[in-house]
Amino acid sequence: MDDDAPPAGLVAGLHGDARLQVERWWSGLDAGARLEFRALAEDDEALEDSHQGSPASASAPLREPTSAHDRVEGGLLGLLVGDALGVPYEFHGPGELPEASAIEFTPPAGFDRAHAGVPPGTWSDDGAQALCLLASLLDRGALELDDLGARLLRWWDEGYLAVDGRVFDIGAQTRAALSDLAAGTPAARSGPRDEHSNGNGALMRALPLALWHRGDDAALFRDAMRSSLPTHGHLRSQLCCGLYCLWARRALEGLETAEAWRAAVSGGRELAAGIEGAAAELQVIDPARAPAGRGSGYVVDCLHSARLALTSGPYEHVVKSAIALGDDTDTTAAVAGGIAGIREGALAIPDRWIHELRGRALLDPLLDRLLDSL
Ligand SMILES: [Mg+2]
Repeated sequence: MDDDAPPAGLVAGLHGDARLQVERWWSGLDAGARLEFRALAEDDEALEDSHQGSPASASAPLREPTSAHDRVEGGLLGLLVGDALGVPYEFHGPGELPEASAIEFTPPAGFDRAHAGVPPGTWSDDGAQALCLLASLLDRGALELDDLGARLLRWWDEGYLAVDGRVFDIGAQTRAALSDLAAGTPAARSGPRDEHSNGNGALMRALPLALWHRGDDAALFRDAMRSSLPTHGHLRSQLCCGLYCLWARRALEGLETAEAWRAAVSGGRELAAGIEGAAAELQVIDPARAPAGRGSGYVVDCLHSARLALTSGPYEHVVKSAIALGDDTDTTAAVAGGIAGIREGALAIPDRWIHELRGRALLDPLLDRLLDSL
């Protein structure tokens, strides 16, 4: 046994920077700590837990971003890579998924992958709609809902900002909303407003607002809420988008993830104080509860699932833990991956995923313009 090398279970499935980080962390442990950790790692149950977000993986060091550019690039790439990684695993329960170390762009042989015709490394509706929002913000210099709505319609009709121009995934509420939009309903009113229309389809695309926005917290919160309206008009979805963007902003400022969340919740509560019905909705969202979630497509569950995944260690662990929750794997991984990317920067995302991410010709001009705007 090479005492200088971390236990195999600890680095299983890790490559590039993620593996280097764990190796560096291991090399910093004293002999007693290594012995204790080896005992843990030899226990199968503990090893399994380490893929699910146990203290073992949570103790792995996180990369420190080098600049604001690094964080912003990490946020956008973190969302897109999380989405693309989750695509083949969508619609499967947690018990039907490969073990976390085997979750890659290409699933293990024999796995019944979702969206079978979609090449590995392809982002889905989450990534495409986030890029629609980013392109709209960059072109218009403000959040203009009718412009955003028009781009979402172009995505649906023509595959605008979809890899290969191909739309293969659309949520039921988004489909209904875009039909109304196409029929002439203004984007501020096209999203269904009933309580059952609270899927995560607006939350999944909201992050570019936080990456791009230069206004104060009140302006960011208001715009994040409004960005939900074209497809998800209920106050609950709007508030989740607002909280998520404040969370991302606090993470961009360098706050530790849980602290950033607490600051976002406290700020969001104040900013929502004057909004009719917000107090009751914030009780439903229950943002102060411990992170726990099932990976479902319900906007509140998605937000808390992402919080849970973010406790599991470096970027690679975060998106794999998000996917391990099952069900809406691509969106949970996109929502969690965006925050992890901000937290750790673009270089924390494993090289193999960066290189295999498709659609760079669509992404790179927008990413360059976003970074130039900083
Ligand atoms: Mg999707």
